[in-house]
Amino acid sequence: MLLDVRDLHVEFHTRDGVAHAVNGVGYAVDAGQTLAVLGESGSGKSVTAQAVMGILDTPPGRITRGRILFRGRDLLTLKGEERRRIRGAGMAMIFQDALSALNPVMTVGDQLGEMFVVHRGASRRDARARAVELMERVRIPAAAQRVRDYPHQFSGGMRQRIMIAMALALEPALIIADEPTTALDVTVQAQVMDLLADLRREYRMGLILITHDLGVVADVADRIAVMYAGRIVETAPVHDLYKAPAHPYTRGLLDSIPRLGHKGRQLYAIKGLPPNLTHIPPGCSFHPRCPLARDVCRTEEPPLYEVSGERGSACHFWRECLDGLGH
Ligand code: SF4
Ligand code: MG
Repeated sequence: MLLDVRDLHVEFHTRDGVAHAVNGVGYAVDAGQTLAVLGESGSGKSVTAQAVMGILDTPPGRITRGRILFRGRDLLTLKGEERRRIRGAGMAMIFQDALSALNPVMTVGDQLGEMFVVHRGASRRDARARAVELMERVRIPAAAQRVRDYPHQFSGGMRQRIMIAMALALEPALIIADEPTTALDVTVQAQVMDLLADLRREYRMGLILITHDLGVVADVADRIAVMYAGRIVETAPVHDLYKAPAHPYTRGLLDSIPRLGHKGRQLYAIKGLPPNLTHIPPGCSFHPRCPLARDVCRTEEPPLYEVSGERGSACHFWRECLDGLGH
């Protein structure tokens, strides 16, 4: 397994008390696979990714428990320098906001080329050639000319491609993309997603796609992990989950995306708000919003029940949900 996260817990110390951002998350992704991590903002999906990338190693965030196995080695037990080296060579992250992640006063060619100069000891001339090659890889038209342009001279979609090129430069085994297309319009979103999916195949990388939008990842993900209040509430192969969700929260997310053939139907929105992470409700944390909730849900926290060999649901009543009840 390329990446195997187990029982991860992360907390933040805030003025209102301890925020339990990640509460026992486990997921895995292998080379050549795409895992989509889905959830509303504050569900813990980005924080989990930041813990994997090692950008949470400083306060106020704190990893209190768990393991992050990368190619079988637990990054959390390694010493600083070795940990950095393994991460640096093995994983890269793509963020939502390409404009603020890129240097505005440096041409994109220089920024891409610098990766090769700093990390691979390439000459300037060689680095420039590699930059052009990368821009071609991410399908930026007229790459040989555009390599001299600055970030603001590109459209949002093209800038996101440049971010992807930066992430690819050192040929990581794993890429984590945190809402990579949220700032883009719908057609461009689909193009960027397709590109990521193609590159994943070409390079045989593991890809983790973090999103709040189920519609965007449906065609490119192999598996989905749905997060709520810092836990994974459902995990399944993407097609199984689409066909019949085994958790009421997933059901709500599915019902809130417009789908072909459902025109004119009132879109369902999950009522209420996600919980305050300093005061997560007891029992099932989703119970205040759940149409299937009953007494046991308020007192007993559901484990991740095994629905089938490949599926899990953290709902006491996953069978009913699978049968389409409470809908
Ligand atoms: Fe709803 Fe209860 Fe299932 Fe939680 S355990 S999702 S409250 S039915
Ligand atoms: Mg986020």
